[in-house]
Order: sequence, then structure tokens, then C-alpha cells
Amino acid sequence: MTVYAQPGQADSPATFKSRYEHFIGGKWVAPVKGEYFEDITPVTGKAFAEVARGTAEDIEAALDAAWAAAPSWNATTPAERAVLLNKIADRMEENLEAIAVAETWDNGKPVRETLAADIPLAIDHFRYFAGAIRAQEGRLSQIDEDTVAYHFHEPLGVVGQIIPWNFPILMGVWKLAPALAAGNCVVLKPAEQTPASILFLIELLEDLIPAGVVNVVNGFGAEAGKPLASNPRIRKIAFTGETTTGRLIMQYASENIIPVTLELGGKSPNIFFDDIAQEKDAFYDKALEGFALFGLNQGEVCTCPSRALVQKGMYDEFVAEGVERVKKMVQGNPLDTNTMVGAQASTDQLEKILSYLDIGKQEGAKALIGGERMELDGDLSGGYYVQPTIFEGDNTMRIFQEEIFGPVLSLTSFTDFDEAISVANDTLYGLGAGVWSRNGTTAYRAGRAIQAGRVWVNNYHNYPAHAAFGGYKSSGIGRENHLMMLDHYQQTKNLLVSYSQNAM
Ligand code: NAD
Repeated sequence: MTVYAQPGQADSPATFKSRYEHFIGGKWVAPVKGEYFEDITPVTGKAFAEVARGTAEDIEAALDAAWAAAPSWNATTPAERAVLLNKIADRMEENLEAIAVAETWDNGKPVRETLAADIPLAIDHFRYFAGAIRAQEGRLSQIDEDTVAYHFHEPLGVVGQIIPWNFPILMGVWKLAPALAAGNCVVLKPAEQTPASILFLIELLEDLIPAGVVNVVNGFGAEAGKPLASNPRIRKIAFTGETTTGRLIMQYASENIIPVTLELGGKSPNIFFDDIAQEKDAFYDKALEGFALFGLNQGEVCTCPSRALVQKGMYDEFVAEGVERVKKMVQGNPLDTNTMVGAQASTDQLEKILSYLDIGKQEGAKALIGGERMELDGDLSGGYYVQPTIFEGDNTMRIFQEEIFGPVLSLTSFTDFDEAISVANDTLYGLGAGVWSRNGTTAYRAGRAIQAGRVWVNNYHNYPAHAAFGGYKSSGIGRENHLMMLDHYQQTKNLLVSYSQNAM
């Protein structure tokens, strides 16, 4: 067990600057209007850095820098881009502990996750796209004996990217790696709740990245995000965040007729068929683990398995054991490697979750465990902690329909396959889902019938770089991860060539 020292203390692996500027054209640049905002750590509820508060003027400066860099970066070979991506991955790996602690401090998530998942996945993402871009090939259509249609992949030029606070570094890297691999320059806006860990990462990488290829403008959605997303000088906007914001992003993009990718909210069903209780073996144990995964990242995951559907044949015993499993989830100091549930990312998020705990109680849902704010001692007493909570109810309730984005599970039962699928699909969203069964046919049929872009079968919360990720319905447009992601950052040039000497 290790308890990392807090950033700012002498023996912490991560030291933040007290003030962060924008990163534009390879330099740290003060905001045009001279204003800053506080970045607060949810671990203690205290501010630890001030960050440049960007406006339209800063976005224009970043776009100037990106367009200045575009002619040379757009023209680099896939091999040259792969070299950069691999160097970034190596540098991150050398600094894994520091980046993990920085991410935990900014976001509140347990360091055991940032060390084992967030940062290693981000590193792997750069390596995956370094390989993917080198393996990518164009296409050729033979029109007739003397006429050939060549299809080339070309970068878009300069793209905008806006990310949320729940996985600041991983969500940033999910967007940066394919955009850079495809040959684009980027203007990125981090979430205002968690800008510092990305800026900490950029500081570690700044000598590797050619000036202007990656630019980061900090600030709030309306002040910095909108001028970026609505800017006629971007050739694409990629957004991860709430569905309501996603609608606005699409409206802005429609003015400029640019492509949009949206990774939005979810209310993911996790379905447990009763054949899993045939034996109390390792598979049964794995399913219980899958039931408890709603608490991962404090429930602040777009694919949080926030609705559990358990078949009636095993409901009582499985749920009782599931509750015991949740009781064993260690909650506390996110910098302690034993901690499994850390702090919610912001005070707004804490308030939102607490309001849903009240809503659940008012709706008549029964709390099987949790249901309150978690009070911790010492300097953690100012942090934003919520008890993992299981509410038993039915799918008509608001806590089953609305995204809470906290460690709150809405639990219900079902009788048969058709009822399970009908309840699972009774949602606006379609991002993630889980299916647990020993029966391959049941699992396959359920996986195909659920309207969601990612269905985990007999596992959950795995995010390999080479599996496509994205939403059906109101959960978004487009995919992230997987080499199909490159399509979202490239345009197709068709060269239709006649080699004939004869008149047409
Ligand atoms: P949010 O929409 O409030 O903010 C996301 C980003 O958008 C922030 O950087 C914010 O500053 C910016 N923004 C806000 N208003 C804007 C505007 N008018 N114009 C341009 N930019 C604007 O979302 P959030 O609360 O930060 O993130 C949580 C949400 O993200 C959840 O709904 C979650 O499900 C979703 N999410 C989805 C995925 C996915 O891959 N589908 C992944 C992570 C999070």
C-alpha cells in the first residue's frame, strides 16, 4: 500500500505550477483579457492553481498558431507522425506516477485507477494510432482499362476538440492521438473543472511537439468553448460532454458545415441472466464484480452501468451478495492505492448527485446501501465524497431515466429475455450496456438486440484502443478508438485519371 503525498508537499511525484497560461504556438501565453480562474481539487475542496480564463480572442490566437503550423504538419509522412506519437507515449510512460498523481489530484479519482488504467490506456492510445496510421492504405478503383480512381486520405487541416472533466487526460488523448496521426493541428479546450492535469501533461511533452501542432485554450464553455466550436476556421469539431451541450455543438457546426463527432451521456443497462447462479464459481464471482462496477470512477463514466436488471430466478441471492460486494469497496483518500472510490469531480457534481439521492427517496425507491454523502476526516472533510448507493425501483422512475453521473445504481428485476431487452432499450440513450450469461446464444441475442454502441458481454468497463466506442440514439454521433476513428479526421481525395491516349 502506498499513500502518495499531496501535490505541493515535498515528496509528491507531481508538482503543479501556481498559475497556468494557455499553450499556444509552443509557448505559454497569458490570456488576452488577463483573467484567471481557480482549479479546485475535489480531494480536499481547496484551490491549488489558477488557470487562464480564455475568450474568443485567445481562441483566435490559437487558430492563428494552428494554421501557421498546418502546412508543414499536414504534409508530414505517416512514419514521421508515428515517431512523434511513440515519443509522446514513451515520455508519458517515464512519468507515469507523476501524471497519475496529477490526474488524481485534479479529478478526485483513485490513484490505483490512474496508475493502472487512465494513464496506461492513454499511452497505449498513442502507440495504437502510431501503428494504425502507418498501416492505413488508400483505395484504387479500376473504372475501365485506362481509367483509374485513386482515393487518398488527406488531413482536414485544423480541428477543434472540447473535452469533459471525468477522464481529463484519457478523453484528451482519445481525441489528440487520432487527430495528430491523421496529420491535423489541434486547438483543444479542457473542461474548466479539471484543466491542470492536461496542462501538467503538456509541460512534460512541450519539447516534443512542433510549435502550433497542439494548442490548449482553457476556460468556460460559453466563453472559450463556443468561440472554438462555432469558429469558421476549424474544419471539424470533436466533443465529449453532456447531451444538451452536444445539441448546441451541432448547431454551431451546422453554420460552418463541418463534421461533428459527439460522445455524450448514457444510462447503461447491465443485464444479469439467472443462469449465472447455476454455480458459485469464478464466473459467478466475476458477474458480482460486474454488478459493483457502477462505482468505478465514482460513477462519473459515460458508460457507467447505472441500471442493473437482474433476472427474478436469482434476484434475492444475487442482489444480497452484490450488496456485500459493494460494502467491500474501500472509499477514502484518492491518493491511497487501497482506495477504490474517491471524490466526485466538483462541488456542482456533488450537489447534483445528492439531489438525485433525494429524488430517488421521494420516488419511493428503496436504498439497499448508501444514500448519503460520505463524511471523511482531516483535510478530506472538505472533499466531495458520496456513499456508493443502490436504489431498488422500476424503470419509470427518474433515477432510472436520467443520467446521475455518480456512484448510484438503479436496480430492478425482469422475468424473461423480452422483458429485459424492452427495459434495457427504454431510454433516450444508447452508449454502453452489459450482458452476463453462461449461455452463448442468450448473450449473443441480447447483445445484438440492445440499442447501444458498445455492449460488453461477460465483462464491463474494458476500453481497448482497437475496439470502436460510441453512441446510438442521444448518446452521440461517430466513434472513438479503433482505426475507423481516422475517418473522422480525414477527408477523401479522389483523383480520377485517364491513361488513355484516345479522345474521350
Ligand atoms: P459539459 O457538456 O457540461 O461540458 C463538456 C465540455 O463542453 C467542457 O469543456 C465545457 O466547458 C464545454 N462546453 C460547455 N458548454 C459549451 C458550449 N456552449 N459551447 C462549447 N463548449 C461548451 O459536460 P460535462 O459535465 O463536463 O461532462 C459530463 C458529460 O460528459 C456526461 O453527460 C457524460 O456522460 C459525458 N461523457 C461522455 C463520454 C462519451 O464518450 N460518450 C465520455 C465522457 C463523458
